[in-house]
Amino acid sequence: MRATVATIGSHSALQILKGAKDEGLRTLLLCIKGREELYERFGLADSMITIKNVEDLLDPKIQEKLLDEDAIIVPHGTLISGGKLDEFEKHFRPKVFGNRFIFKWEYDRELKDRILKEAGIRIPQRFSPSDSIDRPVIVKLPGAEGGRGYFVARDSKDLERKLKSFSQKGLLKRGEDEEIFVQEYIVGVTVYPHYFYSPLNSKVELLGCDRRYETNVDGMGRIGAKDQLELDLVPTFRVVGNIPIVLRESILMEVFQAGEGFVKASKKLVKPGIIGPFCLEMVCDEEGRLFTFEFSGRIVAGTNLFVNGSPYSDLLYAEPMSMGRRIAREIREAAQNGKLTEVTT
Ligand code: ATP
Repeated sequence: MRATVATIGSHSALQILKGAKDEGLRTLLLCIKGREELYERFGLADSMITIKNVEDLLDPKIQEKLLDEDAIIVPHGTLISGGKLDEFEKHFRPKVFGNRFIFKWEYDRELKDRILKEAGIRIPQRFSPSDSIDRPVIVKLPGAEGGRGYFVARDSKDLERKLKSFSQKGLLKRGEDEEIFVQEYIVGVTVYPHYFYSPLNSKVELLGCDRRYETNVDGMGRIGAKDQLELDLVPTFRVVGNIPIVLRESILMEVFQAGEGFVKASKKLVKPGIIGPFCLEMVCDEEGRLFTFEFSGRIVAGTNLFVNGSPYSDLLYAEPMSMGRRIAREIREAAQNGKLTEVTT
């Protein structure tokens, strides 16, 4: 069997390479120029191809090299945020582990909304900016990413006032009003379960869970509400890192139901459906209800917490099983059984 696990040098690359080595597979790193030394320190890449940026993956010469190595690309957040997803879908010739057609669904708020609704899971209510809004909302401006450029508003009046101030400051251009995404703000604790769906055995596994630590929203509790008001503090959502979380066992049923609903919806809307790792981003409110506001159709950076396995993967496997290793195992088993077409697109 000849299969080489390849990935771009960033995000969760070290975990992916380590997982592939643990499963006895060859590894290849697409290393962004200037970062070679970092990855050499860990010695996990059997070979490296230097690239200038993610767009180089569309370069026919680089693709040729990957094809020569029988490389299977494991996509992660850097690939998805590199733009040109349509071109990647159509013109990237090497095999991609996972469903390459789902990445744009993660990027596009309308498509994301559609697949989460189809999954039949609880999602925050969506509003149009002109609706009469009677509860706190989070407003996601066009082009905002990674929680930057988001703000919360108390109700319709507050929203109108804030949007007006954004327009006056030139932060919101004419015509962009239609693209503003307004969603009910769920007060609670964020939880991000890491799932793996295996098309080889049709099972959804829970391999870990984290919550993001975001500034300044997660730091606001350190000062009293009165001081927050006096300092005129507004919550922002920039990710600083990830914290492991083990969920109350009674919540797990709903976590699995949500994961299974998502797999079903993906099979219906984005054929062949989700393959391998995915994540649902949830908030658990004071009544213990889970609201899913976002998904990732590939490995998430929060899995880097569990290079040596997590409490959940320990229950499933008698050996350390990171998400990176689980991916490599699926590739190895598929390759050994002549089923690579079932786990790649
Ligand atoms: P990324 O691509 O990194 O996931 P993003 O731009 O898609 O980021 P979201 O993940 O949608 O942004 O949101 C960023 C943060 O905003 C979340 O981690 C969460 O803290 C908060 N958030 C988003 N939607 C809601 C909501 N409906 N209720 C409460 N908090 C929310």
